[in-house]
Amino acid sequence: MFDQLEKTVTLHERHGRYPQATSVEDFRRNLAAVQQRIANACQRVGRDPASVRLLPVSKTFDEAHLRLAYAAGCRLLGENKVQEAQRKSQAMADLADLQWSVIGHLQTNKAKQVARFASEFQALDSLRVAEALDRRLHIEGRQLDVFVQVNTSGEASKYGLAPEAVADFLSALPAFSALRVRGLMTLALFSADVLRVRPCFVRLRELRERLRQRAPAGVGLEELSMGMSGDFEVAIEEGATVVRVGQAIFGARAMPDAYYWPTADAHPGSDE
Ligand SMILES: *Cc1c(COP(=O)(O)O)cnc(C)c1O
Repeated sequence: MFDQLEKTVTLHERHGRYPQATSVEDFRRNLAAVQQRIANACQRVGRDPASVRLLPVSKTFDEAHLRLAYAAGCRLLGENKVQEAQRKSQAMADLADLQWSVIGHLQTNKAKQVARFASEFQALDSLRVAEALDRRLHIEGRQLDVFVQVNTSGEASKYGLAPEAVADFLSALPAFSALRVRGLMTLALFSADVLRVRPCFVRLRELRERLRQRAPAGVGLEELSMGMSGDFEVAIEEGATVVRVGQAIFGARAMPDAYYWPTADAHPGSDE
């Protein structure tokens, strides 16, 4: 039974083979294909597909492509760099019901922008950023849904809190009343080997189960944001409630993934 699950999933090796989406039809077809993969994964483990939210990730794609995605039905787009996200949100301000989720590392000096345009922030991993966001949100008179990013792979190159640090971190968050804590987010080990990827997702779910009982009032831990184009089926099998999918919807990106998830010694993908 477990063997069969392992065979039905597609991992990162598929990256680079997704064709570019260049029409509304392409986006409709790709979105339907991803929804079908979500439904299949849910069926394998007896979950309701409605319990999984698809977050389309539009980073690196230009405004014209984002507008096609919007025409195909996307109303919330994920971006991992603040400046790029803000530029796009301003250019597309005419689409009043289009919302933005920032899914990449944030520096405190960018909190002001995020407080203005984002509806969700998925990479919270420091109290300095929480404090800066909260202060700016109060000025803007806004609130923000946030996910706490956890490093489940143990890789030094990944942002996120060590699993052991999350309980203390959560206990400090009620002080920031403009942040609505929704759950946890992680990036799995970047590997084509499902036997190495799956444990990252298991770790996040188990951490959530442990913390749920003693989470402070007002800190929600309902959501688990995990899984991308190459591994979202595995993530769903392990309890993902949000999957962040870029390439399977928009097409393969030109840049290697290392560009977005900086290594320990070089930070080319950060918002410096
Ligand atoms: C780019 C990105 C994704 C989506 O990856 P794809 O391979 O395009 O599906 C998901 N999460 C984060 C944090 C990302 O930066």
